[in-house]
Amino acid sequence: MIDLHSHTLESDGSWSPEQVVEQAVALRLEALAITDHDTFSGYDLALARASAAELDLVCGIEISSKLERRGKATIRNVHLLGYFLDQPPSPGFRVWLGKIQASRRDRNRRLAAKLQSLGLKVKLEEAEAFGRTLTGRPHFAKVLIQKGYASSVTDAFERHLDEAAQGYVPRHEPTFAEAAATITASGGLAVLAHPYKLTRNASEPLDMVIGELVDQGIRGIEAYHSEHTSAEMEQFAAAASAFGLAITGGSDFHGDAKPGVKLGSGKRGNVHIPREVLDRLRNSKTR
Ligand code: AMP
Ligand code: ZN
Ligand code: FE
Ligand code: FE
Repeated sequence: MIDLHSHTLESDGSWSPEQVVEQAVALRLEALAITDHDTFSGYDLALARASAAELDLVCGIEISSKLERRGKATIRNVHLLGYFLDQPPSPGFRVWLGKIQASRRDRNRRLAAKLQSLGLKVKLEEAEAFGRTLTGRPHFAKVLIQKGYASSVTDAFERHLDEAAQGYVPRHEPTFAEAAATITASGGLAVLAHPYKLTRNASEPLDMVIGELVDQGIRGIEAYHSEHTSAEMEQFAAAASAFGLAITGGSDFHGDAKPGVKLGSGKRGNVHIPREVLDRLRNSKTR
């Protein structure tokens, strides 16, 4: 079994990169991809431990983007996975990633100021103590809870952080097409992450949504994911075949930040991804 989607402390997971590798080894996974949000640092830190344990560690990343659609509203926070990017990353990719990280920090600074202007005593440094280099709204939510301004993460988003809330401050995200093109130009395979987020409850048929994303540059779909029903897994795998796309899958493990999702097996064992998925993926990359 393999797992091609996991997060560490370097983004919003709660386990260190070494702990995630140890767990993959304990579970006898045949391969693991660390796919932290907007950073390679989890992968970098995991490499030594993985090679000592002879674990096949795949370089991955998960990029947040905004999907611009002809004649339709833009959808924010659409996730793209990138696999097998050149290592070390090409200078172009590093600069591009650096811009994303800088714009996140700039948004965080403005978000802290906005919350303060609303009378909420929340400092940037307090959120950064939780989120470090990848501080985001979930970390501001933790501070808001700690200070009694919210009762839960959901409550913190509803009251203060959501797009509809007073405290909302937008951040620059690359477009989906730009993210896909940049991953491809840097030697990577651009894959639509957890497609259910775009297709469940969508007004258009699945094939239309996927077709649109193919036009925007994806070369694979994450058919297997902890949040997918078995029917969705079948539909996504079928759509991938129909469009000639690669198929990937993973648990989207976040440690204690997403209780109930286990590395390698997902939610109550709902993902079990055979090694051949990775073999095929590597072949489709070299094609
Ligand atoms: P950011 O990238 O800092 O703007 O934060 C986006 C992240 O916040 C998403 O990836 C989600 O994990 C989380 N998030 C967004 N909306 C909510 C919500 N309503 N409740 C809980 N978490 C949310
Ligand atoms: Zn995450
Ligand atoms: Fe995601
Ligand atoms: Fe993820």
